[in-house]
Amino acid sequence: MIDLRSDTVTKPTPEMRRAMMEAEVGDDVYGEDPTVNRLERRAAEIAGKEAALFVPSGTMGNTIAVKLHTEPGQEVICDSRSHVLDYELAMVAWFSGCVIRAVPTEDGILSWDAVRRRIRPPGPHWAPTGLIEIENTHNMAGGTVYPLATIREICGGAHERGLKVHMDGARVFNAAEALGVAVSEIAAPADTVMFCLSKALGAPVGSMLAGPADLMAKGRLLRKRLGGGMRQAGVLAAAGLIALEESPKRLKEDHANARFLAEGLARIPGIQAEPQKAVTNIVIFDVSGTGLASAEISARLKRRGVLINGVNDRLMRAVTHYNVSSAECAQALEALSAVVS
Ligand SMILES: *Cc1c(COP(=O)(O)O)cnc(C)c1O
Repeated sequence: MIDLRSDTVTKPTPEMRRAMMEAEVGDDVYGEDPTVNRLERRAAEIAGKEAALFVPSGTMGNTIAVKLHTEPGQEVICDSRSHVLDYELAMVAWFSGCVIRAVPTEDGILSWDAVRRRIRPPGPHWAPTGLIEIENTHNMAGGTVYPLATIREICGGAHERGLKVHMDGARVFNAAEALGVAVSEIAAPADTVMFCLSKALGAPVGSMLAGPADLMAKGRLLRKRLGGGMRQAGVLAAAGLIALEESPKRLKEDHANARFLAEGLARIPGIQAEPQKAVTNIVIFDVSGTGLASAEISARLKRRGVLINGVNDRLMRAVTHYNVSSAECAQALEALSAVVS
């Protein structure tokens, strides 16, 4: 199977599996797992923050961040297609007691002006703003990347008003590759950043939340509340360390494959794709012109050994990663071309 459903499907590399087997471990709830401690120190360094917390999933990382920055009854401003809004089981409401103020955007990228107009002070009728959340890269907009200047403007404006900014950087390493800058530079203006080890970086499990040391200490307790006290998690952290050191070097291949896919898709009659927007590893394309619903296309592709999911009836999403080669991307294009003609 050529699996382009997501970069979450990546399998750990032989080097990761070796490191997992040999990992030094301890009870991480007591803070005694040396490999987890090493991973958290290294992740903090890479993110340019004081401290980091190893969490089982990106959803948990975002959930803890929202809780750390807000009080119940507040609003979280984010883009209208955000992962925190659409794909995290309403944890913003369920765990933090907040509502989302969704801002429509062209490419998932908020501007300071759009954010500024939604900020609400305390008042007799409305929920005051508690937090601003930005998603970088933006998943459902097709892996789009925040310009550094935009991040600085949003964070600067927010901080002037006493508001915090959390970056959902599930794929921030892809953003760093696309911009040719360090992750720390992208994350610097934000108060906290979450990133996934388990996506394009290839670790089997885990994400990191990074930020100020006092917040991460509180976050450790929230992680326990959520069932994320993982004990001998060093076996997972060992793979995470390799994901951090080794995997970013090859993300440019995924990006080239995504661009190649998008260019090929744009040439298939009935499919609309915008190759110039495929700047990282995600391609969103519109199949409405084929007369087929995306679920039907998925089913037909599966019979030809290709897995690509629909986002809705009209839109589909292909995600490149290190378990799919450029030759396999070419095969996927051939299969798509065949099933829609
Ligand atoms: C994948 C993802 C997450 C976290 O997902 P988990 O499956 O919980 O690890 C968060 N935000 C974005 C933008 C994502 O793509």
